[in-house]
Amino acid sequence: MSQDHEIETLFKNNRQWVAEVTREDPDFFVRTASQQTPKYLWIGCSDSRVTPNQITGLPPGQLFVHRNIANVINESDLNCMSVVDFAVRVLQVRHVIVCGHYGCAGVHAAMGDITQGPLDDWLDGVRALWDHNKGDLLKGSLETAKDRMTELNVRKQMLSLCRTPSIEHAWRHQNSLQIHGWIYGLKNGLLRSLYPDIGSISQRTRAESESSGL
Ligand SMILES: [Zn+2]
Repeated sequence: MSQDHEIETLFKNNRQWVAEVTREDPDFFVRTASQQTPKYLWIGCSDSRVTPNQITGLPPGQLFVHRNIANVINESDLNCMSVVDFAVRVLQVRHVIVCGHYGCAGVHAAMGDITQGPLDDWLDGVRALWDHNKGDLLKGSLETAKDRMTELNVRKQMLSLCRTPSIEHAWRHQNSLQIHGWIYGLKNGLLRSLYPDIGSISQRTRAESESSGL
């Protein structure tokens, strides 16, 4: 396939999609153009195989999304913090889903010594998590260690999210806001909840005491 053809395919697919959506729901674009009212913010990995709207069956307008390599949540990341703040304060989403996925190359890179320019800095926190836990995790097979690290990374990022000012502000003002920690299986397409939801400062404190060191 030529490079031009690769791109033309996207426009062709787009026109087909518009036709299908309009056939099912003639007012869809008029309605969704006027406002968005998503109940959910999704924070996930950039991996091309983990497509949030598709795997949750949600149409445009219902899922606010932030993605980066290894679904990292860091208070110094202005991009992520702006998305969280806008979602919570302006859109008033009721759920924030932190979703990792098995087979995550970002998590695997943090477990090795490979340095790849900016990615090396980006994965600093994930690497620290690995350094802290590798003694335990390497008692089993490497495959199990990779899966467990991916799950621990969801926990770490979930707790980081719960400490951000925007989330704390929502909880202090009694806004109903649940933080979820999920994992996606590339091999079966299934989502699974890994940890109990966190919906208040007291629940966060409990989660932190059960996850010391994260
Ligand atoms: Zn990934």
